[in-house]
Amino acid sequence: MHSTCQSCRRPVAESLLNYRKGKGVVHNEGFLQCDICERYACAECLEVYEIFSGYDFLCHVCAQGFKQPPTGTRGH
Ligand SMILES: [Zn+2]
Ligand SMILES: [Zn+2]
Repeated sequence: MHSTCQSCRRPVAESLLNYRKGKGVVHNEGFLQCDICERYACAECLEVYEIFSGYDFLCHVCAQGFKQPPTGTRGH
C-alpha cells in the first residue's frame, strides 16, 4: 500500500486523486504510478507526471528521459 505521495508525502485524500488529462479528468482510486520508476504521486504533484493515456503515466524524470539521455542520476 502507498498511503502517501512519494513526491510530496501527502496522505491519500479524495481531492488528490483527480487528475487533469488534457480536456478530461482522470478519477483514480489511488495515486498515479509511473510506468517506469513506479513512484506514486498525487494530483498535487501532477506536474511531476506526464499522462499519456487513462492508464499510462510517466513521472517528470522518466518523461524527460525520452527526450534526452539523463546526464546524471538525481535523487527523488
Ligand atoms: Zn504529491
Ligand atoms: Zn518515473
